[in-house]
Amino acid sequence: MSTPPAGETAPSPSPSRHADVLVKIETDRRLGHEWDEWNGQPLANGGDFRSTAGKFFLFTAVGLTAIVVASAAGIFLLAPRLAQLAQWLPRALYLADAALALAGFIWLALIGVSYVTNRVLLLKTLRLASRVGEVFGVQRDWTDNAAIAVYNRLAWAREWRVRANEMLILIPRCLSRTALEGVMEIAKRYDVATFVATRGAYARQAIRERRPKAVVAVACERDMVSGLHDVAGRLPVLGLTMQLPNGPCKDASLDLVKMEEFVRKYLR
Ligand code: SF4
Repeated sequence: MSTPPAGETAPSPSPSRHADVLVKIETDRRLGHEWDEWNGQPLANGGDFRSTAGKFFLFTAVGLTAIVVASAAGIFLLAPRLAQLAQWLPRALYLADAALALAGFIWLALIGVSYVTNRVLLLKTLRLASRVGEVFGVQRDWTDNAAIAVYNRLAWAREWRVRANEMLILIPRCLSRTALEGVMEIAKRYDVATFVATRGAYARQAIRERRPKAVVAVACERDMVSGLHDVAGRLPVLGLTMQLPNGPCKDASLDLVKMEEFVRKYLR
């Protein structure tokens, strides 16, 4: 809005000006149906609803307790009638209610454990799935790839930002020329250090020496699983697997778009 020159007062808005403003408000804000009940007042905390997970666990536990208690009360009130139908019915319903309570709280506890331990629990079991898969005749790389996809999904959900000089890109020695050039271009664009790890031990050494705060690692499935197992519990890592059109350890290709996404995910 413009300020009137000194000595002048702002003209009072004419009805048509009001109409303009109203039209503007309506076109500026199209309420989603979830906000149908909004009364037009400013939102609490300036509309910043960032919160901790505690509320989820607390209110879910309260809700589960309320359901179980209400069900038990309903069974208690109806027990005489239910017993007329079958003597055992009230007791069976009480047991079902108790089972529901147990299942509900076990479910909530599992969500809590997986929330607290984040990827650590998964990392402990990364190799388990591929071993079981092998028992059923499934080549471990397929299962490892699936495990890495699950791991990445969890790692991606974690909000973690670092500066470019706190990040490290780890690549193997087997990339094709095109893939290597693509990776180097991304590294240069974002000014991120890149280390070619000829062996897993050297990759771990590079991490020990450089002490990055986040790593984007490229490797085949089996190398990635052992690398994640060793370092991902201590450090945020996103793992990008490769394609091996010419067999292992030679001319590997990778999805450069995904590589860039991974790098950008961690950068401030
Ligand atoms: S194929 Fe796997 S084990 Fe072989 S060099 Fe590449 S990353 Fe390392």
